[in-house]
Order: sequence, then structure tokens, then C-alpha cells
Amino acid sequence: MLTDYHVHLRRDLVEARFDETFSAANVERYRAAADEAGIAELGVSEHMHRFEQCLAIWDHPFWREQATDDIERYCAYVREKTDLRLGLEVDYVPGREDRTQNLIERCELDFVIGSVHFLGDLAVDWERYDIWETARSPEAVWRRYFETLAAAARSGLFDILAHPDLVKMWGPERPAPNGDLRRYYEPALEAIAETGIAIEVSTAGLRKPVAEIYPSPAFLAGALEAGAPIALSSDAHVPEHIGFGYDRALELLDGAAVRELAVFERRARRLEPIGA
Ligand SMILES: [Zn+2]
Ligand SMILES: [Zn+2]
Repeated sequence: MLTDYHVHLRRDLVEARFDETFSAANVERYRAAADEAGIAELGVSEHMHRFEQCLAIWDHPFWREQATDDIERYCAYVREKTDLRLGLEVDYVPGREDRTQNLIERCELDFVIGSVHFLGDLAVDWERYDIWETARSPEAVWRRYFETLAAAARSGLFDILAHPDLVKMWGPERPAPNGDLRRYYEPALEAIAETGIAIEVSTAGLRKPVAEIYPSPAFLAGALEAGAPIALSSDAHVPEHIGFGYDRALELLDGAAVRELAVFERRARRLEPIGA
């Protein structure tokens, strides 16, 4: 069974309206794309920062600008009007774990995807609030990124760690440190081993300057050694990206002897064979 859990019905535009986004017509476009790609298990995971309630966690200016929807309305729509699995993509905000937990508990979710996009107020994957402009060195950003990812895993808030090596997103535009990158992965892999959290294999990186799947084969090998189950996703923000690049992802997984994918229901996890 193939999955796509990291899916946004909402486009990354402030002006996208709730009623257009969460509508039968829009859901139908995503479901049709999933059927076409042979993806039986389809979930949605809107960004926490889309919901006005998120400002109780963090009041970053980007969140203030984006937080227009009501989280309970979103959850009710997905539960009552669709057959999609209900999830959220939630930024890990260090020190705000309790507030994050309170919001996650507002809905009975099937799964929660934890992300690290920001280190402090600056983003690793975005030109606005770009951390790379003022960064001391790639080494400093990479070290802090994976330490924060480790803390996200240990927070216990999340079922899945999103795009685990997102810090590489810019590819040659913001070069990675030299040499074997496994020294940076280490803290995150330790946390993954301790917590048993699932990690995402995401084809979104194929659409970005780095043009690679998240995570790298070396990170994936480390995570598998740590016992991590794998969640497969595209991070689609439009229906055309559902299952994007899955042939490449399945090749990677096959090469790493991954035969099962994690499937979630009301935050309980089970494994399903990929081929079935
Ligand atoms: Zn993300
Ligand atoms: Zn996403």
C-alpha cells in the first residue's frame, strides 16, 4: 500500500480562502490524483501556522500573517466531509511544547508531522527570514538544525519527522559543510533510536534546488539502523504533486530493503507492506 500523508490542500498563498480550499471539488482533485498514482492511503496535514489558534504557541510575524483559519473547522471538515486521514504539520518551537500539545489535542488527529523550518526566528528553507544571510558558517546551521530535529523527536509531540534533512534544500546555492555529513546526523539519529518516531521519506526535495529526496541515503540508512519506520509522502501543495517522484522514492526504499510503510489511524501506528 502506498501512502501520501504530507499533503496540503491549501496553497501557500495568504489569499487562498477556506471555503475554496476545503471543498468537495478541491478534495476530489487530490483524490483523483492519488487514485491515478496508485496511492490508497491519503492524508492531509495543513500547517499549524495557518490556524489563528497557533498564535498562542508563537507570534512570529510570518505566523501572524498566515494564521487565518480555524483549526476546529478544518478538523471537522476533513472528518465529516472527506475520507482523508486527518493530520497536521506542526513546527517544533523549542520551549513551547506544552502550548503545542494543547493545540494538537484540540482535534482527534490520525497523525502529527513534526517539522523544523525555523531556527530561532530564521528559516533554513526560505528567502524571507533567511538564516543563511547572517549565518556564521554552514557548519553552525547544520549542527543547530539537526540538534533541533533531535529535540523535536524527543518532544514526544509528533508521530512523523518531516523532511529530515531539509537544511540541504538550497543545494549549491547555500553549500553544505564539506566531507561526510553523517557527523551532523548523529544527534538526530540518537533521538530517533530512543523515541521510535517514524521518519518521512519525502519527494519534495526533488522539486527544490537540491533536487534530492529527503533524507539522504546515509541519513535513511542511519534511521533504519535506529529502527525507524518510514512514512512516504510528497509534501504536495497542489494535486499535480501527489505521489510526485514516487518511482525514485520506491527505488531508494527498495535499495534500503524497506518493505513496509507506516500507516496511522487516531495516532496509532501500524506497518503495511508496500507491495500489497
Ligand atoms: Zn515542511
Ligand atoms: Zn509541508
